[in-house]
Amino acid sequence: MATINDNYLKLKAGYLFPEIARRVNTFAEANPDAQIIKLGIGDVTEPLPEACRTAMVKAVEDMGDRATFKGYGPEQGYLWLREKIAAHDYQARGCQVDASEIFISDGSKCDTGNILDIFGKNNTIAVTDPVYPVYVDTNVMAGHTGPANEAGEYAGLTYLPMTADNDFTTELPNQKVDLIYLCFPNNPTGATATKGELKKWVDYARENGSIILFDAAYEAFITDPTLPHSIYEIDGARDCAIEFRSFSKNAGFTGTRCALTVVPKTLTAKAADGSDVDLHKLWSRRQSTKFNGVSYIIQRGAEAVYSEAGQAQIKGLINFYLENAKIIRDKLTAAGIKVYGGVNAPYVWVKTPKGMSSWEFFDQLLQTVHVVGTPGSGFGAAGEGYFRISAFNSRENVEEAMKRITEKYKL
Ligand SMILES: *Cc1c(COP(=O)(O)O)cnc(C)c1O
Repeated sequence: MATINDNYLKLKAGYLFPEIARRVNTFAEANPDAQIIKLGIGDVTEPLPEACRTAMVKAVEDMGDRATFKGYGPEQGYLWLREKIAAHDYQARGCQVDASEIFISDGSKCDTGNILDIFGKNNTIAVTDPVYPVYVDTNVMAGHTGPANEAGEYAGLTYLPMTADNDFTTELPNQKVDLIYLCFPNNPTGATATKGELKKWVDYARENGSIILFDAAYEAFITDPTLPHSIYEIDGARDCAIEFRSFSKNAGFTGTRCALTVVPKTLTAKAADGSDVDLHKLWSRRQSTKFNGVSYIIQRGAEAVYSEAGQAQIKGLINFYLENAKIIRDKLTAAGIKVYGGVNAPYVWVKTPKGMSSWEFFDQLLQTVHVVGTPGSGFGAAGEGYFRISAFNSRENVEEAMKRITEKYKL
């Protein structure tokens, strides 16, 4: 008799967004005239930059000619793309990352999940709370946790709360942890980490033999020039950190799919016999076995992000979303609502007014002003009492949603 991976039965997942959809649908059916504005989902709305589209069209033409046709590409990604990433995203910022340490993939979501393939079963794991649910659920699936409690916290995981009480910073855990997931600028809170903050983690990781899994999906939204864009801006990070980046949020590739993971060749972890094993080799082995590379056409599109036109166009996109975030921040603040984030990130993290729970505020906004956001409690127990509003939307929708909220909440 075939059996299943019972760890899947522990998952609370699939709860948050389906529950939002259920409540929105129920409301919409009962109120067919309500113009609902969705500021909930973390997906981009603006079209792909022209430079990327042009490069992809040209690449399609390459595929139509026997002389330039491409079959299987290198599993690690084409060198011309990896060299551009190494030069622009890393070496230009003083980070020692070589093209050979970069792995092109079809998404950071997949990579942050798949990376567990190369780690042992008995690692202790730390995640922030609130958290991007992928880090937690993939550990649940891999059997690294016990069951979840009422608040959705899994036994065996170390949660690092990030709330207004600690200024949305992460505190070092009391117990030793082996794998640490950090995401800055943060989804969902929009919080950032200073160089000092990241140095604290790098020092901790080096002292304890831990590995930091650093998700920099939103680095392009950093406006404060003192903030680090990469964990490798911190001395010693090459010995303790893997970094994930994506073209999804900076260049609008959420539906196109291209991302990258950096595994420095200086990074090792312990084998059962106590020897040090090179993680770059393991990830390379994992990818070349289970992954066959990103489409040539898409990699040409990603390469165009680094052209002069591409750089100008993605800057335009990011500024557009950041301007949305500023409108959201300003209007909510004027309405007497406390907001965080949204300056170096496309997410505004809202303190629910009058001590409402995250879901109470969700229902109130939906029912009174027909605006949908994401309840903070869906991202973790410490997200209770908060609410995420995404800047990924049209200007018109953002302005209309803020007008409605301001009218309802103004003092
Ligand atoms: C959107 C997002 C990503 C990007 O995922 P892709 O699979 O590359 O689209 C990664 N991490 C976080 C936290 C995100 O919000």
